[in-house]
Amino acid sequence: MHNDRLNKLRSQMAARKIDAVLVTYMPNVFYLSGFTGSTAAVVVTEESSYILVDPRYSIQAREECKGTEVRDYTSGPTISAAGKLINELKPTTCGFEAGDLTVASHRLLRRTVDERIKLRSTSGLVERLRAVKDSHEIELIRRACEIVDNTFTTITREIRPGLREKDVALTIDFTMRKLGADEVGFETIAATGANSACPHHSPTNAILQFGDLLKMDYGATLDHYNADITRTICLGKPDDKQREIYQIVLDAQIRAIEAIAPGKTGREIDAVARDYITSKGYGENFGHSLGHALGIEVHDGPAFSKSSDIVLEPGMVTTVEPGIYIEGWGGIRIEDDVLVTDTGYEILTSATKEFIGI
Ligand code: ZN
Ligand code: ZN
Repeated sequence: MHNDRLNKLRSQMAARKIDAVLVTYMPNVFYLSGFTGSTAAVVVTEESSYILVDPRYSIQAREECKGTEVRDYTSGPTISAAGKLINELKPTTCGFEAGDLTVASHRLLRRTVDERIKLRSTSGLVERLRAVKDSHEIELIRRACEIVDNTFTTITREIRPGLREKDVALTIDFTMRKLGADEVGFETIAATGANSACPHHSPTNAILQFGDLLKMDYGATLDHYNADITRTICLGKPDDKQREIYQIVLDAQIRAIEAIAPGKTGREIDAVARDYITSKGYGENFGHSLGHALGIEVHDGPAFSKSSDIVLEPGMVTTVEPGIYIEGWGGIRIEDDVLVTDTGYEILTSATKEFIGI
């Protein structure tokens, strides 16, 4: 598994005439080596790969990183150790992750690495590989999706007017953990009443009132892979306006999902939902992008937005999450996780999208 990933990276390196690459962004380090600790760096050359760890992680790295040679360093920052290893390997050109290295780390790297070795900034090299998931990754995302689906079924039995947003968030987090999540993927959003008009709202002491909307956006992490779901429900019987907006968001979401297929661009899929919402008069109320890639990170990369030129490929996993937010009234978002398949798409989350009133 990791060998396949390293070989794919090597062909990217060859295309860019780089004969070594220093990987410091930790989700990328994990992807290439399997290392789950918090500090390390990976150096990949045409023939070999190395992971640099400090003594806290020596044993762990040897257990987790089977296809990668573990090198221990005992003093100084990871970057100086990486610089010394690069000197030993003597590449002509070594890439580094420009989006991850700080200016200070870059200076230190340049000072440590022999001046005859060229350092070249790369961006998105490993991220591009990560965009297309292998069967092992898809399986983990599927299992994380099951957890968020089952969480929804469980919590809708427990939520009632009178609870606080914080109580709802706590119930969601507890339920996800109880159902097998290793951790929550991000701070759970539970937003009721007018608070639901904020797309990203931290739970407060606001009390759930009869007749109000409740928007919940939460994610489960399982074996380092994520699921991400949003459902909006009504506390009591939805009124006509709530029903109208809910149906527009749902129709926009279904249309966008049904448009997903290899070869389509992120911009095209975004436009399907956005144009539909605009045609119903709520274009101004859908301010964020339609969806993001999902994987080792909850926001695993770009996917669907007005400016996305991503071309869909089988194996990509994305969210599709249109919303309509009206200040003073509230907001409705519906989010599912979708796998791009050879022929189209498969929806990985299956919690009901019926407009529930509880
Ligand atoms: Zn979400
Ligand atoms: Zn999301």
